[in-house]
Parts: sequence; C-alpha cells; structure tokens
Amino acid sequence: MLLSCKEATALIEKKAVFPLTFKEKCRLYVHVKMCVVCNLYRHQSQTIEKALSKWINFEGSPEERLPAEKKAQILEKIKED
Ligand SMILES: [Zn+2]
Repeated sequence: MLLSCKEATALIEKKAVFPLTFKEKCRLYVHVKMCVVCNLYRHQSQTIEKALSKWINFEGSPEERLPAEKKAQILEKIKED
C-alpha cells in the first residue's frame, strides 16, 4: 500500500503533466506527510514548474521579462528547500 520514494517522486513528476487519480493523490499525500525528502522534492518540483511555465508562456515585451530580482528570489527559494 505504501509508496516507495521512487514511486512517490514519479507521481510528483506525473502530477506536473497529468492529473492524478484519487488513489494516486491519496497515496502521494500519505507519503509526503511521512517522508521529509519527498516533501522537499515536491516543493522544489512545484517551484521549478511555476518558474518554467512563466518563462515558456512568455509572450510580452522585453520589459515584461522576469526581472533579475524575481529570478534571484526564485533561485533563493529553491536553495532554501
Ligand atoms: Zn519518500
């Protein structure tokens, strides 16, 4: 019933692209509640995902590009975790 860390991280990656089933969500939830490492992994994965989608979906003018300050904040956040 319990997920291994390998399975948990695979679900975390899957979640970024596809919606998880109810069962997968429950299993992942239980795992990250107990496993500090996977919880951190999930956190980093979300931070990276957010940053990437912002850059990938970028269509504005150069002035609207992610400011250096914001970029530094994201990197800091990643390091924090
Ligand atoms: Zn784990």
